[in-house]
Amino acid sequence: MKYVGAHVSASGGVYNAPINATAIGAKAFALFTKNQRQWAAKPLENDVLDKWFEEMDKCGILPKHILPHDSYLINLGHPVEESRQKSLDGFIHEIERCEILKLDRLNFHPGSHLRKISEEECLDNIALSMNKAIDSTNDVKLVIENTAGQGSNLGYKFEHLAYIIDKIEDKSRVGVCIDTCHMFTAGYDIRTREAYDKTWKEFDEIVGRQYLMGMHINDSKPDLGSRVDRHDSLGVGKIGWDAFKFIMNDERMDDIPLVLETINEEIWEQEIQDLYNLVEK
Ligand SMILES: [Zn+2]
Ligand SMILES: [Zn+2]
Repeated sequence: MKYVGAHVSASGGVYNAPINATAIGAKAFALFTKNQRQWAAKPLENDVLDKWFEEMDKCGILPKHILPHDSYLINLGHPVEESRQKSLDGFIHEIERCEILKLDRLNFHPGSHLRKISEEECLDNIALSMNKAIDSTNDVKLVIENTAGQGSNLGYKFEHLAYIIDKIEDKSRVGVCIDTCHMFTAGYDIRTREAYDKTWKEFDEIVGRQYLMGMHINDSKPDLGSRVDRHDSLGVGKIGWDAFKFIMNDERMDDIPLVLETINEEIWEQEIQDLYNLVEK
């Protein structure tokens, strides 16, 4: 069974995310547990938590179908130690918020070398930061997102994800989120049956399907291999409906959050319905 939803707003309080998810017929969702453009956050107070657990009960969506996303400011691979430490502190804080909300996974972008260090050094920094974060927290899984490879962002090759995972001491704490737009603009084609199968075979061989713990379902404005990160509404961009049909009928994507980050939230409800309509009976 597929669990499709969207990255919904949590503005006004985290408990608004399950409310917003329910309103669009989502069976999964993503959220920021704090302002994604600031380092600081108010602690989660008891009345907010009470409402969160109440709304979580009401919406019936399980933690394994919720994919919180960390702040955009965090760069675990930062070339400067002081900045990397600041990112690690922020990352641990985000993990702790997930623990408090009883969420079991946290989605993050691996990091950027900012053209100051090599790709390999940056990947080493990311893995080291992740190991430290794992050591100082309990059981939230750290879900690495593949990227489009825009600017100096790493994670655009399956080999990057595999390299990081290989260096993680406790592999029960690591997972991967594949964003279809990022995958496509990083050069992995999924538009035809043949291309889709070839790309996922590569993923299975290089990364390992057991690590797939969520997906971002986006069409793409830019072309295959453009290394530009610009999402589009489903079926409107360069990827097209066939790829989403393959995903909705691929049992390997069962039971994980499939989250829309498409550009027009007015049509998310429709897009969720359209995706479910692609499931062949
Ligand atoms: Zn994404
Ligand atoms: Zn993106």
